[in-house]
Amino acid sequence: METRVRFAPSPTGHLHIGNARTAILNWLFAKHTNGKFILRIEDTDPERSADEFIKPIFEDLKWLGLPWDEGPDVGGSMQPYRQSERFDIYKKYAQNLLSDGKAYYCYCTSDELDQMRKESLAKGGTGFYNQKCLHLSETEKDEFVEQGRKPTIRFKVPENAEIKFDDVVRGELKWDSENISDFVIMRSEGIPTYNFAVVVDDGLMKISHVIRGDDHVSNTPRQILLYQALGFEIPEFVHIPMILGDDRSRLSKRHGATSLDQYHNKGYLPEALVNFLSLLSWSSESGDEILSIERLINEIDLNRISKSAAVFDVEKLNWMNGTYIRQTELKRLTELSIPFFQQKDYPVGDVDKTENIISILQEKVDYLEQLPEHAAIFFRDKVRIENSEAKSMVRQDSTQKVFWSFLRELEAIENIDRDIFRRMMKTVQNETGIMGKNLWMPVRIALTGDLHGPDLPMVAEILGREKCEKFIKQVIIR
Ligand code: GLU
Repeated sequence: METRVRFAPSPTGHLHIGNARTAILNWLFAKHTNGKFILRIEDTDPERSADEFIKPIFEDLKWLGLPWDEGPDVGGSMQPYRQSERFDIYKKYAQNLLSDGKAYYCYCTSDELDQMRKESLAKGGTGFYNQKCLHLSETEKDEFVEQGRKPTIRFKVPENAEIKFDDVVRGELKWDSENISDFVIMRSEGIPTYNFAVVVDDGLMKISHVIRGDDHVSNTPRQILLYQALGFEIPEFVHIPMILGDDRSRLSKRHGATSLDQYHNKGYLPEALVNFLSLLSWSSESGDEILSIERLINEIDLNRISKSAAVFDVEKLNWMNGTYIRQTELKRLTELSIPFFQQKDYPVGDVDKTENIISILQEKVDYLEQLPEHAAIFFRDKVRIENSEAKSMVRQDSTQKVFWSFLRELEAIENIDRDIFRRMMKTVQNETGIMGKNLWMPVRIALTGDLHGPDLPMVAEILGREKCEKFIKQVIIR
């Protein structure tokens, strides 16, 4: 049987980290099994059905590199894939349940329902719906209709039934139907409830595995009852544990960035996020943590999903992202980095120069937003020396000797690159008799303002002859 999995976000804008992980696991599993990955937009809430809420989801999934086989924009044999365009379908299935006596109209108003719940609870009852409308006569129904009441449709929960399923992560789960009240499947405005729409869709779309957050476990018994009533095959359920913040409470804004685009905007790489988020629920048998997309597809194993919640560890994400940055081909990394320089108004028109800058900073950053601060030394007109050791070194005679000699060499050349710089340093050494730290450190201070930093010949090449000259002149004491 073909694997068919779906990612079914409610459109609220950009993907939350937890939803992104759900999408990733579904996608990996679809690829692993040569199956289909379906995108369905659960926009039954009319206020949320606007395109502006849906587009960011498409963008995020595309950015992560998770194309879908069927979905609102690409279509598919079970279209449409937006629930707001499927209201006729839900209506038809609700009608079927009504005709089969598996559902009934409920004319109770919300005030009456409130009252009913309070009275039941006050008597020590469950607060469940008391099935008042289950036994209405036709005349009573007509009267309600005449009063202008718009009915909802309730599912008639079978009595004394045991609801059981084997969750791939949690094992066998059981419920007693006595603990489930007759629930609404269609609201009075003709809009389906989540549980109903999701079952009609998963049933019709022949979803084989429902992989989703375990906040939906408590919905599953209702859904199973609906599968049975509608005669659909029940899929496998795979409820993945929640993601927690570092204080082990549920990941929320309080813990920092929780939406995928925030990470995108800070310059995290999509492949690093796919790797990291995927491993928030399972681990590769090899124990390896840096896993290419090919390996993730190969090694994903739903049976290795942990039962316990995963903690979102930003430091680990930073480590992983840094590892990916260092592995990234320079051309691509430069393209990805340019917007971050532009945000700081750094001129990046000279692609070779920008590539050189990135090549030395590639080692230093965890995410691309950090690049400009490290690159500041290449874009300024004046060297600022703050370190006191560096300041006092500048004043030493031998340092000044190096500066003068270096300046003479600079004035004699037209261009500088890393090899020319090395040869110049050799000449300065021969001319001054100064070598080692006393030779290199002064030049480093002059060009970078600091005692430590990136590879100096490369720094000189990036700065170019004129800037090197300008900087040396700024530290020469006349
Ligand atoms: N729209 C639901 C959500 O975003 C989907 C739940 C499900 O996968 O069944 O939580």
